[in-house]
Amino acid sequence: MLQSRKVSHQGDGRVALVTGGARGIGLEIVRRFLADGHQVAFLATRAEHVERALNILDRPEERLYAERIDVTRHNEVEGFLERIRARWGEIAVLVNNAGISPKRVDQDAPWLSQTSLDEWTRVIDVNLNGPFSLIRLLAPAMIAEAYGRIINIGSLAGRAMPIIAGPHYAASKAGLVGLTRAAARDLAPHGITVNCIAPGRVLSDLTGPPEAAVNRSALSRIPVGRFGTAQEVAHVASFLASPMAGFITGATIDITGGEFAA
Ligand code: NDP
Repeated sequence: MLQSRKVSHQGDGRVALVTGGARGIGLEIVRRFLADGHQVAFLATRAEHVERALNILDRPEERLYAERIDVTRHNEVEGFLERIRARWGEIAVLVNNAGISPKRVDQDAPWLSQTSLDEWTRVIDVNLNGPFSLIRLLAPAMIAEAYGRIINIGSLAGRAMPIIAGPHYAASKAGLVGLTRAAARDLAPHGITVNCIAPGRVLSDLTGPPEAAVNRSALSRIPVGRFGTAQEVAHVASFLASPMAGFITGATIDITGGEFAA
C-alpha cells in the first residue's frame, strides 16, 4: 500500500480526513481544520449534503476535497483514500466522526424490544467497524511517516448509562473508547496518537431542535445549563490534531457541560 508519496504537509498544515463532514459536528471540524491550514478531505453518504457543505465552505479547491461515500463500503473507501493520496500525499490526521443514532419509534416501549438485529448490525457497522477499518487502512502510512493523529468521536452515551440513545448506539460508542485505547497502545511508539472525544448533547440534525421534548429534558441534566456546540467539539479536535498534543494518547475527553464528569 505504501507508494512514493508527495510531501504530506506544508508548515503546520497536514492532510486530514474527516468522515461525516457534510453536517453538524463533522462540518465544523472540517471548517476548523481548514482554518488551521490543513488540506481536508471529507466524506458523507448523501451527494446533496456533500455539495451543500462544499458551498458553505466556499470550495477552497486546492485544500478541500469531498466525495459521497458510505464508511461501510470498504472498497469505495479505499478508492477514496487513493484519490486523496494522489492529490496531496499521505493522510496524517483522521477523524472518525460519521455516526448514526436510530430513533425509538415507541417512546414507552423498552429499547431492547425495538432493536432488530439488522438495525444493531448497521449501527455497529457505521459507528465502530467504519473507524476500525479506517484506522487499519491508514496506520501503515502513518507509521512510515512516524506521525499521525487519530480522533474518534464517541459519545456520553458510551460513557454512562444511556438515557436517550439505544443499546446499539451506546455499545458502538463504548466500543470506540476501547478501540481508542487498543490502537493508542499499538501506535504510540510510532509517533501516532489515538484519542476519543465524547460529546454530550450538541444540537444538530442528529439531536433535533432545542424545543423537542427530548432536548428540553436533556437540558435539565446539563450542569452548565446549555447545550454544547459543534464549534466546541471542533476546537478540541483541532488541539488533538496538533503536534503539541503528542503526549495525549488513549484518552477520552468528555465535552458534556459537566454531565457525567469522568
Ligand atoms: P449529524 O447527523 O448531524 O451528521 C452526521 C454526518 O455523518 C453526516 O454528514 C452524515 O452524512 C454522515 N454519515 C452518517 N452515516 C454515514 C455513513 N455510513 N458513511 C459516511 N458518512 C455518514 O450528526 P452529528 O454531527 O450530531 O454527530 C456527529 C458525530 O458525533 C456522530 O458520531 C455522533 O454519534 C457523535 N455525537 C453527537 C452528539 C450530538 O449531540 N450531536 C453527541 C455525542 C456524540 P449525510 O450528511 O450524507 O447524511
